[in-house]
Amino acid sequence: MILIDGKKAAAELRAELKEEVAELKSKHNKVPGLTVILIGDLTPSQIYVRNKEKSANEVGLKSEVIKYPDSVEERTVLEKIQELNSDETVSGILVQLPLPKHIDKQKVIEAIVPSKDVDGFHPMNVGNLSSGYESSIPCTPLGCYLLIKKIEPNLSGKKAVVVGRSNLNGKPMTQLLLKENCTVTITHSKTKDLKAECLDADIIVAAVGIPELVRGDWVKKDAIVIDVGINKTDNGIVGDVHFDEVSKNAKALTPVPGGVGPMTIACLLKNTIDCFKRSQI
Ligand code: NAD
Repeated sequence: MILIDGKKAAAELRAELKEEVAELKSKHNKVPGLTVILIGDLTPSQIYVRNKEKSANEVGLKSEVIKYPDSVEERTVLEKIQELNSDETVSGILVQLPLPKHIDKQKVIEAIVPSKDVDGFHPMNVGNLSSGYESSIPCTPLGCYLLIKKIEPNLSGKKAVVVGRSNLNGKPMTQLLLKENCTVTITHSKTKDLKAECLDADIIVAAVGIPELVRGDWVKKDAIVIDVGINKTDNGIVGDVHFDEVSKNAKALTPVPGGVGPMTIACLLKNTIDCFKRSQI
């Protein structure tokens, strides 16, 4: 079985991006800039944002974090986004989720101009992705896609099952696999026989949030299995896939941690650079 090393793949991607940033700097005499807005003091969000800033600096991006207290008014955040939308030194804007209850998430997502929406959550980018046009693609599914392509460059005609239909993961993942000419089944909490669906798949992407949901006898021999799940349990962090069981059947499998996770931030940097490049045309 191939253990898909997300840490290594992410390091390789960051090295490529670093070279690209250096080239862009010499061509345009400026570098792409990423601005992250962090609201409140949730520890996981603070850790994610710190890691994003560190990685952005590593590849040579200009990076900035704007922090607000939990009590910040929605209007203040929307005004800041408007200011960043028209700031030429800012190529990408990300508002770290989740937001405090009094701030409307969708309003915030839609306030970011689509050309700077590095999370790919704006309805315009969602629509462009599903229509097959160029767009920012949500970072986690983009990372999954790049890992799958490393194992199997030609996905045409493969049967793929995506477990979970969130806007963050399942739906964009489905679009990416469709674009590669896979036959995609999207499954969710109301799916009648998830095991039977998975057993039919050449590729399984699990993004559910239920520890070790996908079992060894759900997976066809030689399937590629991508585990997006991050679940805290008494035995530490586990994915949505039963690693020990599935590793006996699968052709390739991502571990948790060390699989999809590291690719997510690397893809955020890629999206920022891609936004910059599109803005220079
Ligand atoms: P979500 O809660 O928004 O969506 C979960 C989806 O799973 C829903 O569509 C639901 O219908 C489906 N589901 C629930 N129970 C099911 C069942 N029994 N069978 C089949 N489908 C079922 O979750 P999300 O935001 O997509 O996150 C999913 C997991 O991925 C979580 O563990 C999250 O922590 C993790 N995650 C990881 C990364 C990363 O970088 N690796 C990024 C984002 C999320």
